[in-house]
Amino acid sequence: MSIALTRAIKALSEGLGFHACGIAPALSLAEAPLDSPLRQAYERYVEWLQAGMHAGMEYMARTAPLRADPRQLLPGAKSLILVLQSYFHTPRAASPIAQYAWGEDYHIHMRRRLQIIADYLQRHGHEARPFVDTAPILEKVWAVASGLGWIGKNTLLLNRHLGSYTFIGGLITTASLIPDAPFTENLCGTCNRCIQACPTQALTPYKLDARRCIAYWTIEAPTLEEGMPNLHGWIFGCDICQQVCPWNRFAKPQGELSFRPKAAVFQGADYWTTLTPSQVKKLQQGSALRRAHPKKLLQIATISASQASKGSSMP
Ligand code: SF4
Ligand code: SF4
Repeated sequence: MSIALTRAIKALSEGLGFHACGIAPALSLAEAPLDSPLRQAYERYVEWLQAGMHAGMEYMARTAPLRADPRQLLPGAKSLILVLQSYFHTPRAASPIAQYAWGEDYHIHMRRRLQIIADYLQRHGHEARPFVDTAPILEKVWAVASGLGWIGKNTLLLNRHLGSYTFIGGLITTASLIPDAPFTENLCGTCNRCIQACPTQALTPYKLDARRCIAYWTIEAPTLEEGMPNLHGWIFGCDICQQVCPWNRFAKPQGELSFRPKAAVFQGADYWTTLTPSQVKKLQQGSALRRAHPKKLLQIATISASQASKGSSMP
């Protein structure tokens, strides 16, 4: 294992503006020791799939075998490098859009910088494959494995210093790097705020039922069929289970210019209903809002505005 290369990667990550970086050995999650936090997190994922809580996200079930072992994605992989990038702006804001989608699309922003690390590794004779929601990898589990935090009862990664408003990205590499110790604590303790605050009862401890989750319906759901919960004013994602989390009092506005909010994100659902699909498309350019088809976003905005006019609005 190379101490010098490990140090160089961590220094490069910091220089590129990532807020945290950790390293884990590449191994099979399904074969990790039964009492390890990795194995437990993996088993929870399998149970979540078996219970159908992934709703219409069929790709999650389809890629489950690949998600068990990152070495299937890069033969000869020895290490995973995980990075966190905070996107936190403010504890609460009058926006119907989750904070992660307020600025430049994080896929573009993170990918650009992860590729610099990949190029560095390649110059040193190692293969490296960057990922930022772009590969069948259980990012949160690997973030725990690399010491970056724990998975909270709201099912998000929580970092002691950054809270939960973070993007997770990383690389799989054939380089043999010095691993960090996995994060073995669970600092949720007796807190249940996220579970109590979820307006659709989508959360039970450490499990999110996508069939009830506003974020799923407004972003991922392929069709808006019967069973959609009240949207409580949201039109793209939902931040409630992050807003109430006490660990987010440690989150600081990150000042990254790329994530500077676009003015339109502070407009309510009513405003979005007045736009045409091509105007929505323009606002989506270069933003994570692209994930929803313009027509779907307009449909959701109409539903959300109508529900709000009948008395159900954002908390
Ligand atoms: S994103 Fe919103 S709806 Fe989904 S679990 Fe969190 S609080 Fe509940
Ligand atoms: S709100 Fe409480 S229980 Fe939920 S993730 Fe945060 S600390 Fe854990």
